[in-house]
Amino acid sequence: MAVSATAHRDHVIDAAAALDRTVALFQADLFPGADAATIVRALTSTRVTVTADTASLGSPTGRAALVGTVSTVARLGAAVSIVLPVTVANDRIPPLIAARVTLKSALDELLNSLITPPSAGEADVVISLSVPVDEDTICIGGDGFTARLAIGESAGGWSGREPYGAGLAAAAAGAEVARHAMRHLASVVAIAPHYRDKLLPRPTVLSLPAFDTPSGGVDLGALDIVSAGAVTHAVLFTLMRVADLAAYIRVIDDDIGEIHHLNRYELLKVQGLDVPKTILLESFSTPQLHIRGIQTRFTDASDLRDSLAPRVLVGADNVQARQDAQSYAPGWLGVGATGHLEIAVSEHEPGGPCAACKHATAEHHRHQRFPTISFVSSLSGTLLAYLTVRDAVSPPTRREQISVLDALNLAGATLHIEPVQPNPLCPLRCIASARRLGAIAHHSA
Ligand SMILES: [Zn+2]
Repeated sequence: MAVSATAHRDHVIDAAAALDRTVALFQADLFPGADAATIVRALTSTRVTVTADTASLGSPTGRAALVGTVSTVARLGAAVSIVLPVTVANDRIPPLIAARVTLKSALDELLNSLITPPSAGEADVVISLSVPVDEDTICIGGDGFTARLAIGESAGGWSGREPYGAGLAAAAAGAEVARHAMRHLASVVAIAPHYRDKLLPRPTVLSLPAFDTPSGGVDLGALDIVSAGAVTHAVLFTLMRVADLAAYIRVIDDDIGEIHHLNRYELLKVQGLDVPKTILLESFSTPQLHIRGIQTRFTDASDLRDSLAPRVLVGADNVQARQDAQSYAPGWLGVGATGHLEIAVSEHEPGGPCAACKHATAEHHRHQRFPTISFVSSLSGTLLAYLTVRDAVSPPTRREQISVLDALNLAGATLHIEPVQPNPLCPLRCIASARRLGAIAHHSA
């Protein structure tokens, strides 16, 4: 027996306003000639059913994949219906992230903020966390560090504890829903040549190198996060799902939640609109995962700059903020950057290639309508949370960057993991860049 979760909507969301930045991405990269209304219609007319069985929901990775997938797909503007075993409606499934937050309450809250309400009609896309219902069903499965997406056949179910595989799966499923809307659009407007032969669903396996988490849990200690934007939302969404994670987090931002953030901010619901972003994120605080908002611009707060935590994350979408954070971070720094369909996540430590080696030139998009899409932001945050926890429990011998060149075309080799390189043109002239410059001068002398 199954139940469909239903939404109780207090607010009517203006879909065109909520999807403004997604439309900007469709126009910039996918359908250069399409008008906004046509794109919004293609996205909001896509009907998606997400379904799971008791076995997948009995696994923490399956529960993380369910909530992540619903959020990622709903933020694309699709109408999402959720079909779950009846035990979930009765809340007999273990708590999701903390005692207060059950799977049902998390989904109910999400459904209150869907850009497009669930549709009674037949689904265009079925996403299953277990077995397929027909030959077109998108099945997602995986474990703590791996995601599998299969078409019309089982993806092997869910196992493991860590939330990173679930984050990869949610992004891959989101990309497939976007692709469905693209197929629909391609029948009425011209598609960019690069995507002409990339319209069919893509089975995929995505994997991050696994690391062991101590049985006693993860203690991140003090962590400062610059910006409360999309990447930070996805980082916190992921950290909340790491078993027994303790942290004292400060989030530094002076902005408020706006409707055009709904397309990608994983923790934003309509109740968070017009509220300072830091206050919204504080509301996710638990006794173990303490989140405190600091409502200011990082660059304006000199006392803050000089007292940053041993670990700092930057999710800000501008190069200057990344360089500023690097200038003041006393220890490990993680950077999550996105641009259109591209992701660059990296880690830096004193003496090694710095964040300014990686992000050397400032872009000029501060006041532009910057193109974004849900699965790019969620994937970036998943990867940055992965680097952060790995540094705390199992630091690698070399500092690494993970990049994705086209998040719409996720495939096995998509996650490029490589050491961060020193850049002789580093604007901060860090030690690693000076050493590199010296080596070049020596070589050419
Ligand atoms: Zn540098």
